[in-house]
Amino acid sequence: MGVDLLSEHVAFPRPPGLIVVVLLFASLLEGAIAISQLCGGSPVIWVANGVLLGVLLVVPSRRFATYLFACLLADFALNEGRGDNLMLGGILALCKLAEVAIAFGLLRGRFGARPDPARPGALIRLAVTALAAPVFPAIFAADARFYLAGEAFAKVLADWYVASALGFMVVTPLVLAMFRSHRPAPPGRDAFLPALRYFGLLLAVCVVVFWQSRYPLRFLVFPPLLLIASQRSLVETAVATLFAALVILGFTVAGHGPISLLAQAGVLSQGEKLRIAQIFSFVLALCALALAARTEQTRRLRGVLAKRQERLRENEQRYRVLADNSGDAIYRMSVDGRRLYVSPAAQEMFGFTPEEQVGRNWREDVHPEDWPAVRVELRKLNAGSDDVVFSYRRRCKDGRFVWVETRVRAARDRASGVVREYIASSRDISVQKATEEKLNAANAALAALAATDGLTGIANRRAFDEALEREWRRAQREQTALALLMIDVDHFKPFNDFYGHLAGDDCLRRLAATISGCLHRPGDLAARFGGEEFTALLPTTDAVGALEIAERIHDAVAVLEISHEVTPLGRISLSIGIASDGPERYHSAKALLHTADSALYVAKHEGRNRSVIATIDDHGGGAGHNTPNTR
Ligand code: GH3
Ligand code: MG
Ligand code: MG
Repeated sequence: MGVDLLSEHVAFPRPPGLIVVVLLFASLLEGAIAISQLCGGSPVIWVANGVLLGVLLVVPSRRFATYLFACLLADFALNEGRGDNLMLGGILALCKLAEVAIAFGLLRGRFGARPDPARPGALIRLAVTALAAPVFPAIFAADARFYLAGEAFAKVLADWYVASALGFMVVTPLVLAMFRSHRPAPPGRDAFLPALRYFGLLLAVCVVVFWQSRYPLRFLVFPPLLLIASQRSLVETAVATLFAALVILGFTVAGHGPISLLAQAGVLSQGEKLRIAQIFSFVLALCALALAARTEQTRRLRGVLAKRQERLRENEQRYRVLADNSGDAIYRMSVDGRRLYVSPAAQEMFGFTPEEQVGRNWREDVHPEDWPAVRVELRKLNAGSDDVVFSYRRRCKDGRFVWVETRVRAARDRASGVVREYIASSRDISVQKATEEKLNAANAALAALAATDGLTGIANRRAFDEALEREWRRAQREQTALALLMIDVDHFKPFNDFYGHLAGDDCLRRLAATISGCLHRPGDLAARFGGEEFTALLPTTDAVGALEIAERIHDAVAVLEISHEVTPLGRISLSIGIASDGPERYHSAKALLHTADSALYVAKHEGRNRSVIATIDDHGGGAGHNTPNTR
């Protein structure tokens, strides 16, 4: 049914040429005059003016004057041919064309390009123009006929005015509808028969209603005409309207029909009868054309909607193809986390078929340990973020977990911003994760290596410096003591000279292990300071505690019994300088180190194989000493 708007074409129909228009105008004028003479009165509808107004509105503006002037000449020529009063004929011709020009001015100003009677408001504007444009020309024409032909002013005025208004209302929309720059494609051949049926129905109703003069059934004309307006195109409705108007007016003039019934009954005069038929036709045209315009708009919108839906389907199909062929697993999920779509790549990655996954909540497959972090990310989406990226362990069909990196996008309602669903894409990153873990382990090993002394395997000088700074700051922060032992091997140069460097290295290794073995607290650190010098860093340890450790070291070295025959003692021994105090006594870590070194110097000076505790004057200046133990 109706016109397929999907195949709407946008061709610009060529407006009718000048000769065609002039010939049509002239023949319509002649026909109207012939008919009016036949009926013994004025024309009841000015078809010629309605056609000319329509044509002027669809031809290019610059040709307006040419068409108008050519039609004026044709009217003059017809007058001349009929041998009428030249002056009166000329004035009437000018009045006719003046009303067309006025109507043109009123409509053109509003619509710009070719007016489209299907546009909202266009018909109202046309109706107002039809009623307004003939007012002054009708007065002039009535004046002219009154003065030059002695006709009744009021009757001429009314006849002229109503016939002109009706011509504009009934005929102009037909011309405009036919020559629209943008109109629906004409119905195909198969639509021809239904069109004929509608027209047949209208003809039958019009003839039956307006032939008989017994029953006042003129309202019966509305249903078939409105049926055409609601089912057929605007052009067909305009044709049907013109057709119905001509039948109604023709039968009424001829004395038939429900309106003539009123005249026969003496309710209306003959003149009023005609006026009522004209007003009835005017209203009929307005209703039918308004409904047809509305119908066409609805169809147009339906067409646009269908096109959009088609485009939407195509788009969806395109994205489906993309998703289906992507190497990443792609999901659509409802706001409560149920999977609505799963791309085939997910099966390769995780083993589940798309059917096994659709409908299930994706959270079931997130590793329980990773869920809290994932939830934090998802909350960002609810808080307004467009997308989030995060990694988590994802369960596979065989029970394994693989690392995936997932990007989730929130698809929101454009107007309200409320999340409608989520779109997610996941990549398997287990290989990257494994590499990352290996790299982390390698980095940790490297860091340990960088902090270890190559010969002895205990902490090196770099690690000691860092630890000293760190512990110094902590001691200051927590107001605790910090002790430092500076340890030097006695007579090591002669040891090397006597036993050789390899034996010397071996001796250093054993001493390092021994010193390290004497420190038991987790925070204690033994380090090789350089050459045959070692340090021990003892957090939260005062001088007494530090001395105890120093003694423990001396004892352990004695137990080692590393012979050193060149010395009076006959074995390897150590000298130890001890510095320890609360941080308020030293202004820097370096000062503590320096103090321990001074104490070590004293220990050497006093005969070696001993510990010396540094004592500081009250200003934290130079170190004094006491020697608690001599071996
Ligand atoms: P003192 O009791 O006064 O400390 O006498 P010393 O001979 O130990 O004197 P000094 O501290 O000056 O001697 C350091 C010696 O330690 C020099 C060098 O032969 C030896 N030494 C330093 N580093 C190493 C090392 O890595 N391996 C070996 N085998 N010997 C080293
Ligand atoms: Mg030394
Ligand atoms: Mg030494």
